[in-house]
Amino acid sequence: MNNENDFSKLSIPREMLKTLSSMGYDKMTPIQSQSLPFVLDGKDVLAQAKTGSGKTAAFGIGILSKLDVKKFKIQSLVICPTRELSEQVAAELRNIAKFQHNIKVLTLCGGVAFGPQLGSLRHGAHIVVGTPGRLLGHLNKGSLDLQSVEILVLDEADRMLDMGFFEDIQKIISYMPTKRQTLLFSATFPDEIKDLAQSVQTDSVSIETITNEEANNIVEYFYKTPKREKFSTLTKILGEHNPLNVIIFCNTKIQTDEIAKELRQRDIDALAINGDLEQYERVDVLVQFVNKSCRILVATDVAARGLDIKELDMVINYDLPNSFEIYTHRTGRTARAGKEGVAITLCDEYEADKLDEYIDKKYIFREKDDLKEKRNFSMQPENKTLVIEGGKKNKIRAGDILGALTKEAGIKSVYIGKIDIFDRQSYVAIQKDYIAKAYTQLKIGKIKGKNFSVWVLE
Ligand code: ADP
Ligand code: MG
Repeated sequence: MNNENDFSKLSIPREMLKTLSSMGYDKMTPIQSQSLPFVLDGKDVLAQAKTGSGKTAAFGIGILSKLDVKKFKIQSLVICPTRELSEQVAAELRNIAKFQHNIKVLTLCGGVAFGPQLGSLRHGAHIVVGTPGRLLGHLNKGSLDLQSVEILVLDEADRMLDMGFFEDIQKIISYMPTKRQTLLFSATFPDEIKDLAQSVQTDSVSIETITNEEANNIVEYFYKTPKREKFSTLTKILGEHNPLNVIIFCNTKIQTDEIAKELRQRDIDALAINGDLEQYERVDVLVQFVNKSCRILVATDVAARGLDIKELDMVINYDLPNSFEIYTHRTGRTARAGKEGVAITLCDEYEADKLDEYIDKKYIFREKDDLKEKRNFSMQPENKTLVIEGGKKNKIRAGDILGALTKEAGIKSVYIGKIDIFDRQSYVAIQKDYIAKAYTQLKIGKIKGKNFSVWVLE
């Protein structure tokens, strides 16, 4: 049956259809079905759709359909606000790109050395994904040539404006041909975005998807709680819902550390993520959260930006966010891609009174006194994470680690969780009861005939 939301309706390579279906993309999401016809038609598009609505594929399918693999020049540039988000966008592009051999996607972000990036740039790429600062760095050094760019994408444009990247973006654009297609994607649509669009696009088609409250299946409610009782209200909420995983948002870095520490003291396992972490610490934390070695992430907005966790049970606003847009960003992380989620917000009496001016939708208050303190409540993850000091550069693959654990250590594969392989490190989640066995085996045993250092993340 040919439905209007089928990808097959689009003029895209047939091979790509197979790839999309192998990714589990059966139907287009609303933003995809509304924007892709224009994107594929070469129009400038200004598209707004909430977080988790599939914006990446909306432009990804567009740029990959038009790409000419034989022309080994940068044909598309995607600018993202953060490194994390750039990596996610690049990963999605690479997934979709599997329909054809040899499409090269390169990320250029800050926080890593220039050297290897210069090397990669010399090798060439079809698509570059990066953050404004680093892209400009390369442009200034003369190591990045954008003269052959045909499609420019500004992803999470609202975040980029929030972060003060307006001028950087303009500068980057000055290195590009004026004749190009420009796609602008944003979760929200403030006036500043329209101004940005005006200055970088010509005759753009503007698409706003209706924010359907029901669509994402998010149950949202609020607890009025005096400041001094906030923490105990939080633990009661956790006790009542016992979510599989949850992100708790705070407005300050210090608070993320404090809350995580206090939760751990109560036998509720939690990790903080904030801008003070080194890149490797950040990776440790995110890997553990995603692979079920940690159920609670206590985060600031900046640290959680662009984080794509497919199945997030709950979001808690420990602090009321500073704007409704941030509120939407935070709560939009739960219930992604059609899953159900709960978003709970704590506010004091003063904030509760002002909520009407702030929350642009219906909201429900719940009584904190209805929450019961669960005795001996504890929240522990099912897994622990083992780190192996070897990765892609050592030619390690998931199969090698799985083999060492199942064959050598005799651990059943059902007790082995997600395996993440990075350039120089690999992470494997293991059901807690088997972590000691796994550790001992990997410590004495070999992977690919070599002995690697291993340790357990605590
Ligand atoms: P956004 O950029 O709008 O926040 P993403 O592009 O990150 O959203 O997509 C959110 C999630 O939805 C991702 O996990 C992605 O793999 C998934 N997704 C995107 N398009 C589809 C689709 N057509 N069918 C099913 N899942 C999809
Ligand atoms: Mg996105």
